[in-house]
Amino acid sequence: MIKIYNELLNQFGHKNWWPADTPFEVVVGAVLTQQTKWENVEKAIRNLKDNGLMAAKPLAGADLSNLEGLVRCTGFYRQKAKRLKDISTFFYENPDIFEKPAEDIREMLLDLNGVGEETADSIVLYAADKPKFVIDAYTKRICACMGIEGDYGELQSLFESSIPQDVPLYKEFHALIVEYGKQFCGKKRCSECVLVENDKM
Ligand code: SF4
Repeated sequence: MIKIYNELLNQFGHKNWWPADTPFEVVVGAVLTQQTKWENVEKAIRNLKDNGLMAAKPLAGADLSNLEGLVRCTGFYRQKAKRLKDISTFFYENPDIFEKPAEDIREMLLDLNGVGEETADSIVLYAADKPKFVIDAYTKRICACMGIEGDYGELQSLFESSIPQDVPLYKEFHALIVEYGKQFCGKKRCSECVLVENDKM
């Protein structure tokens, strides 16, 4: 796995994810990025900031229909506005959550409506700065192409047991996988694929 990381790093350089001013902004971005492009998330984040809503308390108390309008550009806006209010309420009521161990944070987040494993782990890794490897659709696809099958937990365990438990490394590796996925898998550039042709496990 670390050879793959080095290959991707050589190709793309450091991505320095997650692009956010505060941990709470990571939380908001992790909810909004579900099933949409990041450009749409950036627009919605700007809208929330312009309306003074990029903090747990004001976002939890925001008018739902107003919030729907502000995040409309990310698609599934009714669902996402409701989820944003729910998760903001949770963070407002649990201001010290990031002091807990990664596994506890993950379990608490997974109890919230609309927070799946990828969203929870993105928050644990990029907002709480704790080691949880994020598995997204590109990671699953790349693994499948390399003959590695498994569910979310199995792939996560594979990555976490194959590379040093290091938060910056986890952050960068996931970002690089997404970049590769966007530039190669998503554009069907399989004939140029450098991951599948060479066995770097
Ligand atoms: S570029 Fe194509 S072959 Fe390579 S990992 Fe992505 S989907 Fe698989």
